[in-house]
Amino acid sequence: MATTERRPDLADLERPALEAALEERGHARFHARQIFRWIYRHGVTDAGAMTNLSRELRVSLARDFTLTTPVVARRETSADGTEKFLLRLADRRHIESVFIPDTPSMTFCLSTQVGCAMACAFCLTGRMGLARNLTAGEIVGQVRVLADALNMREAPFNIVLMGMGEPLHNYDETMKALRILADEHGFEMSPRRITLSTVGLLPALERLATEPVMPNLAISLHAPSDVQRGELVPINRKYGLADIIDVCRRFPLNKRSRITFEYVLLAGVNDSPQDARRLARLVAGVKSKVNLIPLNAAAGIPFERPSDEAVDRFARIVSEHGVIVSVRKSRGRDIRAACGQLIVEGERASPAQQLAVLAFGG
Ligand code: SAH
Repeated sequence: MATTERRPDLADLERPALEAALEERGHARFHARQIFRWIYRHGVTDAGAMTNLSRELRVSLARDFTLTTPVVARRETSADGTEKFLLRLADRRHIESVFIPDTPSMTFCLSTQVGCAMACAFCLTGRMGLARNLTAGEIVGQVRVLADALNMREAPFNIVLMGMGEPLHNYDETMKALRILADEHGFEMSPRRITLSTVGLLPALERLATEPVMPNLAISLHAPSDVQRGELVPINRKYGLADIIDVCRRFPLNKRSRITFEYVLLAGVNDSPQDARRLARLVAGVKSKVNLIPLNAAAGIPFERPSDEAVDRFARIVSEHGVIVSVRKSRGRDIRAACGQLIVEGERASPAQQLAVLAFGG
């Protein structure tokens, strides 16, 4: 019988695991550092190109390991400079990643899943259902591909985990990706330059609070009461607002950092002055700021974006209650790269997977 043993993927290994894998095959552990530099600093996608390694090691790497890199299937540029990348993965599934220039820093918006199970009422990605989790290698792979395509391997950038997927629903691979990104021989990304956005999966949030490598935290709130939130963010029926806010209150934060509460404004649904006052009261006492996101409308999304006046009025009321508030400028809407607009047609989950989604956390 043929063995089905899979070769380890260099893109998917943390450095200690790579050191161990090298040692097992009779190579010195320190080569892991060199390999990390080739992959993450020089953007090499083929072990044969790692020219400071011995021929013998290069042959062994090519034979005993893989190095998987997502492929750019399409690249679109918005009038505002935002670029959307459609990336093809090894199993031919697709995800999207977005480059947002000058906000004021350069930002990469990454996906953590193919699709999403959360089914938020106003989000296009939610329409896809969840097809599968991304591996850590695929999450970091988006950074490798974007840095290369944009000639930004030397340039500083921030990362937001706000693309397709719910990062805390793919906890282990997301955290592993953050550790690979932080490696001092790789991208050396400070976790302070990374923001993880979540609907607030309670057990995962509790666990996140204990992590040694801790990204900035953004919570998708979107409504000031459980009744309203349950309609917009279905998982709220399982993990309610009081518990989420309670974890946020206890969340260990750096001296200068605050939790961001994201709030999508939907005309006539959650944008009244009373909603603004209730939101301010809800987050009072949490070291936080509120980020208002006027809805990015799309065909099939049964909500409307409020007027600029309604957005301003909402922001003013929240601010008058002593809460720091900002309004997110929508970027890349003309190429459907804005928040909640990432969807890959033809990647909908199968009926069986949809059922698994419904059962999630049940
Ligand atoms: N699953 C994570 C990350 C996803 S998206 C989360 O929910 O936080 C990042 C933000 O975009 C979230 O706050 C999400 O609610 C918001 N968003 C989704 N659809 C949107 C839309 N159509 N218009 C504006 N923001 C949207």
